[in-house]
Amino acid sequence: MLLDVKSLTKRFGGLTAVSNVAFGIERGEIIGIFGPNGSGKTTTLSLIAGILKPTSGVILWKGNDISNLSPFEVAQQGLVKTFQNPQLFPELTVVEHMRIACHLHIKRELGIGRLRTLIGGMPVGLDRLLEQKIDQVLALCRLSSQRNEHAAALSYGGEKMLGVAMGMLCEPELLLLDEPASGLGHDEIANLDAVLRDLKSHGVTLCIIDHKVGFLGRLADRSIALHHGAVIASGKTSDVLADESVVAAYLGK
Ligand code: ADP
Repeated sequence: MLLDVKSLTKRFGGLTAVSNVAFGIERGEIIGIFGPNGSGKTTTLSLIAGILKPTSGVILWKGNDISNLSPFEVAQQGLVKTFQNPQLFPELTVVEHMRIACHLHIKRELGIGRLRTLIGGMPVGLDRLLEQKIDQVLALCRLSSQRNEHAAALSYGGEKMLGVAMGMLCEPELLLLDEPASGLGHDEIANLDAVLRDLKSHGVTLCIIDHKVGFLGRLADRSIALHHGAVIASGKTSDVLADESVVAAYLGK
């Protein structure tokens, strides 16, 4: 198992945001985490990505406990979280954002020590390697034609896709996506669906959270439904979505 989450709990003061959550992710699958607003989805993803520390419980990555690693250390292990709304620089182009996002990739290629030597310029050949990598990822995320556009000119869907592309530069084995479809129109969702299926076929395992069932219901192989911080159903996505307790949670019963 790639990721094994055991008895994960996160309390904020008196509020239990994530309660005894347990699930596993196998290599190569798309896992959906559903739940109404406030059910603990983002907190769960942030715990896995090292952004938050669990109150109790364990997160095993390939059998090793990563629950106390920093987000950077977690990303170095191959687990990368993309943000719901990436913070972009309006006056920088798509490819310039990609170059900024390369820093982790460079660290992996060269080691942090060598990164310091880059301040005076890239070693011969590395810049070409990175540009190749950037072009590959832009093509995979269907952003090649917007390579030289300013971020300010991107649609909302384009901005979110750039966030995914920047995450992909870290060469994740597991990509954690926080509501990638929220706020997107019909065509943008179809595009996102196709890109995420392509990422899967390139060997990336995906864990995606969503508070709506439509998009992720079609995409996820398996799903976990959260309600009030706890898992109320898990298994094949169609079975989870048909589960009575899941239907009731969505209807507010
Ligand atoms: P979801 O992503 O499903 O909408 P969240 O994980 O964001 O849910 O939140 C779960 C619960 O934890 C909510 O009640 C939310 O208000 C609370 N919460 C999330 N983050 C914090 C925080 N940093 N401090 C206090 N409460 C928080």
